[in-house]
Amino acid sequence: MARLRPCIVVHYHEISLKGGNRPLFLRHLSRNLARATADLPPVTVVQRPGRILLDLEHHEKPEAVLERMARVLGIANYALAWRVPSTLPAMKAVIARLIEGRSFESFRITARRAFKSYPLTSVELNRELGAFVLSRARTRVDLERPALTIHVEVLPDETFLYLDRQPGPGGLPVGASGTVAALLSGGIDSPVAAWRMMKRGCRVLFVHFHSVPYLPATSQVKARALVDRLTEWQHHSRLFLVPFGEIQREVVLSVPPPARVVVYRRLMVRIAEAIARAHGALALTTGESLGQVASQTLENIARIDEVAGLPVFRPLIGMDKLEITEQAQRLGTFEISIEPDADCCTLFVPLHPATRMTADAIGAAESRLDVARLVQAGVDGAVTETFDWPVMPMPKTEAPADRSPSA
Ligand code: ATP
Ligand code: MG
Repeated sequence: MARLRPCIVVHYHEISLKGGNRPLFLRHLSRNLARATADLPPVTVVQRPGRILLDLEHHEKPEAVLERMARVLGIANYALAWRVPSTLPAMKAVIARLIEGRSFESFRITARRAFKSYPLTSVELNRELGAFVLSRARTRVDLERPALTIHVEVLPDETFLYLDRQPGPGGLPVGASGTVAALLSGGIDSPVAAWRMMKRGCRVLFVHFHSVPYLPATSQVKARALVDRLTEWQHHSRLFLVPFGEIQREVVLSVPPPARVVVYRRLMVRIAEAIARAHGALALTTGESLGQVASQTLENIARIDEVAGLPVFRPLIGMDKLEITEQAQRLGTFEISIEPDADCCTLFVPLHPATRMTADAIGAAESRLDVARLVQAGVDGAVTETFDWPVMPMPKTEAPADRSPSA
């Protein structure tokens, strides 16, 4: 009986990979695949032409490895597959095992050759292997809506056979595009914005502004929980917790209420930029969506961008709250975001913020502040925390020696 040699075949969208980008993309994807499975029994990640392979022969937990693929950005689709030599008898032997005891009223063979010098064409393979299945099972061929699809991918030295393949999350591997700093509140939007940047290949640093001791530390608890959840997509994260309460208090003393929200936002952007620059991030990202609240009008967004020396990306700018909420639910950040909390934006925030701040008005408001000192205070007060996922099992340590005094 044929020995089954399991593996996972990972496909990426080759069309999006132009020439020189490909080796970089593949390096990041391979590394991320290894990291995503780092707490499981070792998996060998191998680059093959047009796909990546995770060798699972002798692996104790193939299903656990397979599960991890759903959160590795850059994967177009993936499948638990079986490796065989590229000969018809070897393929048939494994197909026989795969369909054994299975009932399926219809099927199709989907053969692909990764190199064209293989002696049989895809059509001939489909026909030959299809006839084999028909000789073994009570079923019929249905090319349009088969109950079972048997995929056959022929490489020069070996073939991968598999039944189901699943869509991956798509996008680009985290790290391939560089680093951005995300302004992360405890709200629904900013975690989604951060994730969308990850999906375009960015590693994300998180910057959260809190108002301890003026408000309880709940916003930090939420920020940590959100970063923890998002770390499943990038494996390692840093969160910078910036004390903002004192800065807000100074703003309140000299800035008229309608201008405060935009002044706060401009201070946040300046502080986040300094942190970003110090840690190699090349852009900022926020969860703003046009028109959603007073600070998110075209005028106010322009006032915010005027103080930014790095690009500020707003991946949600054209999305409705409903679309953002659905995305947050899929990500599992929604439940965390809706936990009640007292965000710093609820502290000292006027009832009627100005929706159209002019450059002159904001300049006048800020002229009463020592902006450089406030920014420096925020940067200096920032506390860094790190997050890792998966959490590595604790190394086995010797039990501590009994130190109880021998009376
Ligand atoms: P969110 O749901 O992300 O909180 P929002 O719709 O509540 O967004 P605002 O409160 O106006 O909108 O905030 C706009 C953006 O400013 C946020 O998406 C976030 O990127 C940033 N921001 C707001 N408050 C904070 C904070 N306390 N710490 C870090 N960034 C913040
Ligand atoms: Mg908010």
